Amino acid sequence: MIYFIGAGPGDAELITVKGMRLLGACDVVIYAGSLINPEILKYAKKDAEFHDSSRLNLEEIIEIMKKACEGGQDVARLHTGDPSIYGAVREQMERLDELGIGYEVCPGVSSFTAAAAVLKKELTVPGVSQTLIITRLGGRTPVPEGESLKSLAKHGASMAIFLSADMIDKVIDELTNSYGPDTPAAVVYKATWPEQKIVMATLKDMPQRAKQAGIDRTAIILVGDFLGKKYERSMLYHSAFSHGFRTAEKYIAKPAHREGMQ
Ligand code: SAH
Repeated sequence: MIYFIGAGPGDAELITVKGMRLLGACDVVIYAGSLINPEILKYAKKDAEFHDSSRLNLEEIIEIMKKACEGGQDVARLHTGDPSIYGAVREQMERLDELGIGYEVCPGVSSFTAAAAVLKKELTVPGVSQTLIITRLGGRTPVPEGESLKSLAKHGASMAIFLSADMIDKVIDELTNSYGPDTPAAVVYKATWPEQKIVMATLKDMPQRAKQAGIDRTAIILVGDFLGKKYERSMLYHSAFSHGFRTAEKYIAKPAHREGMQ
């Protein structure tokens, strides 16, 4: 069996309990050495066979998986963050399907949620945005035309931009028209790693600030007014709001038009 496991954003404690258990039970471990915190490998068996996938191509990775399965061994395939976000897992799964090799996916904490956590921000605040756009600038992997940053920016939604810190000028350029130059942005480098860096600035100041901080890779760019001060409190914990698990305070819960409804 092959286990695709989300290793989380960096902090070794941010792998899931299940991911840690699976990793500890596998004989072969394939991990992306360029992005995975090597500390996570301490959860693996001491005598496991380790492979750094950043030196391998798809067929070489599949070959290791195939050989292990033929020998009755399980494989932990570690992906940074969550495997479903820019994880290049689809092609691995498809090859395994062709070979009749079984696999499971164990999700992980993605770096965009880690970035929100270290900033202590909520990505979907009422009165500001109820939508998060996860995207990137096109690089070697092109982005479909209808998903250009410029067109996505028109929504004014909260945005998490992956894989684009080295093109910060272009990112900000494409966003500024719709969001406006004073919209807050954050660049979070290596969220939850010991070397984590955070830069908060308005869109117009961000390119210079990010460069000053020396950030040009392994960073999430967050953009939107959710980073600002204004928002509306949610109804979920509002004293005047009843829902399936809680009845609102009496004097507010029974306004005239709701009398007799409870
Ligand atoms: N599957 C991963 C993303 C892999 S793509 C996830 O769910 O997070 C690699 C990109 O993810 C990097 O270029 C960067 O934009 C982002 N990234 C990965 N780890 C990060 C971290 N700890 N802090 C900030 N950004 C990170």
